[in-house]
Amino acid sequence: MSLITSWLESANAPDTDFPLNNLPYGVFSLGGAPGRCGVAIGDSILDVAALEEAGVLSFQRTLTTGTWNAFMALGPAAWSALRSELTALLSETTETRAQVEAALVPMAQVRMQMPFRVSEYTDFYASRNHAFNVGSMFRGPENALPPNWLHIPIGYNGRASSVVVSGTDVRRPTGQLKGPDDDAPRFGPSQRFDIELELGAVVGTASEGPIDIRQAAANIFGYVLLNDWSARDIQAWEYQPLGPFQSKATATSISPWIVTAAALEPFRVPTPEREIELLDYLKEDGPSLYDIALEVAITPEGGTEQVLSRTNYREMYYSAAQQLCHHTASGCPMRVGDLLGSGTISGPDRESRGSLLELSWGGKEPIELDGGTTRSFIEDGDTLTLRGAAEGNGYRVGFGACTGKLLPARG
Ligand code: CA
Repeated sequence: MSLITSWLESANAPDTDFPLNNLPYGVFSLGGAPGRCGVAIGDSILDVAALEEAGVLSFQRTLTTGTWNAFMALGPAAWSALRSELTALLSETTETRAQVEAALVPMAQVRMQMPFRVSEYTDFYASRNHAFNVGSMFRGPENALPPNWLHIPIGYNGRASSVVVSGTDVRRPTGQLKGPDDDAPRFGPSQRFDIELELGAVVGTASEGPIDIRQAAANIFGYVLLNDWSARDIQAWEYQPLGPFQSKATATSISPWIVTAAALEPFRVPTPEREIELLDYLKEDGPSLYDIALEVAITPEGGTEQVLSRTNYREMYYSAAQQLCHHTASGCPMRVGDLLGSGTISGPDRESRGSLLELSWGGKEPIELDGGTTRSFIEDGDTLTLRGAAEGNGYRVGFGACTGKLLPARG
C-alpha cells in the first residue's frame, strides 16, 4: 500500500501521522466551545460535524453529537461508508472542495477532548515479555508466568471513570503502602508511580453473549494509545488474590485520536507461535496483531524530552480479538465504547520495555537521563509521552501523542 495523495499538501508529508490513509477520529474544541467530531488530516482537523450540518455528509446526524459513540453504533457499513466518502472528499477535486476547505481547522488552534464516551474499561496482561519481567520481580523467575497465562488472556475490570484524554494532568496517588521489610502498612503518597505503554481497542458493536473468534475483530472499531498509570507500591501490597484495584484507579490516559481498524488493515501481522496450543475458542483464522512501532518518552520539569523505550504492538501474545472473544465467553455483554487495554507492551530487550518498573528493574538499575539525573519511577513534574505509528511505504499511520504530566500528591 502506498500514500493516497490529498489536495491538502500537509497530508502528503512523509512524517505526518495523518495522511489520507489514516483518517483517525477525534473530538476537538475551539476557544472553549463544546466538542465537535473531527478527522485528523495533515496539520488540520476536518470538522465533520460542520459537513453533516451542511449536508455534505449524512450519517443520521451522529457526527453532530460531539462524541463518536453514536456513529460507532451505526455499524460497520456506516464505518466503511464514511471512510470512503472522506477519502473522496479529500483526494478528488470536486464541487464540494470549497465546502470541505472551509471546514478545515488548524490542529494547532484546538484543544482535544475525549474522542468517545468510555462505557466500560477492561485491562489485560497480554505481553509475554512484560508478564515474565513483572512476574520475575514479584515472584521470582521460576514462577514468573502464572500457570494460567499461556492459556487465558488474563485481565481485570477497570474503571471507565478514570480514563482521561491526552494532555490531562495526573495527580500522584495516595494509598496503603507496605514494603517487604515493613512490619505494618502505612498511608501516604505512592513512591513507585509508573506508566504502562499499551494499545486500547475500542469496541464499536454492542453484543450479548459469546462472540466467536472469527467475528471478534469485526466488532472492534479502532485503537488508541493507552497509558495505564500504575502505583507499583500500592499494587504490590493489594493485588493478591483479586488483582489490581487502587493501584490502577488513578488515571488511564488515551490518545485523542481513534485510529480505525480499517486504517491499520495493511499492517496486520500474526500473533507469535503458541508455546502451548490454545483451546479452540481462542484459535484465530488469520493474522490479528498489527505492526505498530511504539515509544515512551519522558520530559522532566523544565527539561528536554528523551525517549526511554521503543517497542512494537506485534510483541503481544494475545490480540484484541482474542481478548474480546475471551471477555464475552461468559456471556458478558459488550457496549459501544467498551475499551480493552492490551496490557503493557514490552519487547525482549531492555530498551524495549514498556514500563519504568521494567526499565529500572524495580528501581535496582535506575535509568540515566541526559544531564546526569536518573529515574527509577516517575517524579513530580515529569511529563510522559507515548507515540505510535504503523510505517507504510512513504507514509505513516500514527496516533498523535498521548501525554500526561504528573502533579504532586494532594497536600
Ligand atoms: Ca495495564
